[in-house]
Amino acid sequence: MGGATINTFLNYIKKRDRELLRILSHLKISEKGGRIFLTVPDPARREEVERELKLRLGEGIRDKVVVVSEDPNRQEDTIPSGVNPRFTFENFVVGEGNRLAYEVARSVAENPGSVYNPFFLYGKVGLGKTHLLQAIGNYCAKRGYRVAYRPAAEFSEEMVDSLKSGRISEFRSRYRDVDVLLIDDVQFLSGKLRTQEEFFNIFNYLYIREKQIVLASDRHPRDLKDISDRLISRFEGGVVVEITLDEITKIEIVKRKLQELKISVQENIVKLIAESTGPSVREIEGVIRNIKLKGTDALRPRRRLSDLETVQEVVATYFGVGREEILGNGRSGRVAKARRFAMYLCRKITDASLIEIARAFGRKDHTTVIHSIRKVDEERRRDRKTDYILSFLERQLRGRV
Ligand code: ADP
Ligand code: MG
Repeated sequence: MGGATINTFLNYIKKRDRELLRILSHLKISEKGGRIFLTVPDPARREEVERELKLRLGEGIRDKVVVVSEDPNRQEDTIPSGVNPRFTFENFVVGEGNRLAYEVARSVAENPGSVYNPFFLYGKVGLGKTHLLQAIGNYCAKRGYRVAYRPAAEFSEEMVDSLKSGRISEFRSRYRDVDVLLIDDVQFLSGKLRTQEEFFNIFNYLYIREKQIVLASDRHPRDLKDISDRLISRFEGGVVVEITLDEITKIEIVKRKLQELKISVQENIVKLIAESTGPSVREIEGVIRNIKLKGTDALRPRRRLSDLETVQEVVATYFGVGREEILGNGRSGRVAKARRFAMYLCRKITDASLIEIARAFGRKDHTTVIHSIRKVDEERRRDRKTDYILSFLERQLRGRV
């Protein structure tokens, strides 16, 4: 009768006290043993909310309401698996670039804790790291293992929340209780010292008990930044595998994803899809979804950005503006600055003439370009921060342009 009690309560409030209804909208309302529990997200505010409520609630109902800072229905001792059934070994296309990663993942799933521990998987975005971690999770969960899949950032948030609410020991014991721990995107542990410490302890606890640990990252352990040496050496202590995408597998993936969406196209369109996407399965999926909606007419082979466009793109991204904005006429500080820096860097890094640069920025003549370059030159000499930013951007652009 849970819902009924809550509804009766809310109807009662609705009729009598609109302001109270507003307060309640910030709280989680649950029901247990015929009483209403109101969960205050911030424990520090619990007393204040309780006082306000008791003041506003009528005699009859006051005793039925309990203000808490932890949901009483929360299951303390079972850890959510975080596993998504969408990702399996069956729907993972295997080819040269990902075969080793796939095979290690399979072995790990079949014999958790005993063959490759930890298993560290790394590679660029959109290549199937999360898919393989999840596939391991699914496979093991089905066979009764306790599994926890967490993106590192989420793990970290959970740790911080537990710390704040004085429940760090519950946090620890929940994670110590798993058979298979899958931590995704471990590069995001970078700089998070306390999380790294907690993770290190959980890692060791599980490791010596032969529980399986799987990690995914966008780079090799030795290239991780601001992660403690002792963690990095743990990461390197098992098997480290890179995942890549080769052209033949890419074609196979395109075919499989088309089948899955029941789209039938000619062989040349399959090739065109592969050519119009970068090295990312996620991008392939996006293009194919788009085909499902709009057909294949809009499909174009991917054009490489010209050098000038690359400079514009990188500088725009750095300043958090769009590339179209720096091509426009907007004069807002950030946009104008990004435009100026981009013009300067185009001149400095590419062989383009002033006129070519002006054209790349949609300008008829090159006087603005000259003005901008002068201005940045002068700012750079005067201001260390400007110099620092420009050096940083130059480093980013070398090798790409
Ligand atoms: P990553 O974690 O490496 O950034 P994901 O695992 O999230 O990449 O993969 C991006 C998308 O591409 C997901 O929807 C995933 O299911 C799909 N995908 C990646 N690799 C494959 C593959 N080999 N076969 C089928 N789908 C794949
Ligand atoms: Mg991922």
